[in-house]
Amino acid sequence: MKVGILGAGQLARMIALAGYPLGLEFIFLDPSVDACANTLGEHLYGDYNDPVLLAELAERADVVTYEFENVPAQVAQYLSEHTRVYPPAKALEIAQDRWIEKNFFLELGIPTPKFALVDSLEDLKQAMSALGYPAILKTRTQGYDGKGQSLLKAEADLNSAWELVQGLPAIVEAFVPFSREVSIIAARSVSGSVAFYPLSENLHKGGILRIAESRTNDPMQAQAEDYISRLFNALDYVGVLALELFQVEGQLIANEFAPRVHNSGHWTIEGAETSQFENHLRAILDLPLGSTAAVGKAAMVNFIGGLPETEDVLAIENAHLHLYGKSLRKGRKVAHVTVRTETNEQFEESISKLKRLADQVDDS
Ligand code: AMP
Repeated sequence: MKVGILGAGQLARMIALAGYPLGLEFIFLDPSVDACANTLGEHLYGDYNDPVLLAELAERADVVTYEFENVPAQVAQYLSEHTRVYPPAKALEIAQDRWIEKNFFLELGIPTPKFALVDSLEDLKQAMSALGYPAILKTRTQGYDGKGQSLLKAEADLNSAWELVQGLPAIVEAFVPFSREVSIIAARSVSGSVAFYPLSENLHKGGILRIAESRTNDPMQAQAEDYISRLFNALDYVGVLALELFQVEGQLIANEFAPRVHNSGHWTIEGAETSQFENHLRAILDLPLGSTAAVGKAAMVNFIGGLPETEDVLAIENAHLHLYGKSLRKGRKVAHVTVRTETNEQFEESISKLKRLADQVDDS
């Protein structure tokens, strides 16, 4: 069985690593010659829109999936006319545009921050008089890891924020005074079986995910499962889906969803019975989903723009290193390390060593 993946970055790499024990083979389409999943399967090198390469991928793969949401939605649509493509192209289309995505949440009764459409500086000024400060201006498309975003603290920030998004179509949304950020990751198979992971509690640094920690028996689990189930049903979804949420008192507010495996679920490799990567493959191949139960206490720390010495990571008890094989660049995720322990005491000791190490090597 051959799985085609649009994109050959670290997410594709971890999907392939999870697929080998199941006897799966992989073929990637990615424009970058040195994409980090390359060594784990065949690589069709070229543009996502290349009709010859898309035809080859459709021909050679039994099922096609994708590892990032900026693959053009029409590419997924085209492929789905020739082969099986999961998650559905509609999920991609909605997730690619913050305006459409936020309206979709509201249609499903999932709360969002207050937001408004911004096509001009005049729109922004008008929206801000209704919304109030602080707020965040975000481009509708192509934004990730905090890119294409600008915080508006006061009227004086309006012009510079508008310049920062370079006049691109945008939305402005109220700043949510959240007590924490969480995400839920869940899988739905072709035949409609569903499995939810325990919540991840997430900490960001400069808009980029830094730490994701598993939260078993979290009081907000049921609300998060309710929201993601609505997305599953509305999209007739297949695969792993991630939903990022803000918590304000006893209420979860949706930030965005990602129709793919997600960085805040990397801890599931060691910290759950079945990883998100394996369950994504099981879901799209219509195999029984594996247990999502947590194994001990787990948290993942991203290494951003700088790498630790392997020896320093492996010297930390209960630490599991995942190097992506990517060159270093400022703000780029190049590795992650998961700590998984039996007890909270062990957890605290290992995670504090790991955080110190990450702080030392960031963008070094
Ligand atoms: P995003 O790219 O939309 O996921 O935003 C990246 C990060 O910016 C989020 O994970 C939050 O930490 C922060 N952020 C985004 N939108 C808001 C908001 N409306 N209120 C507060 N913080 C936000």
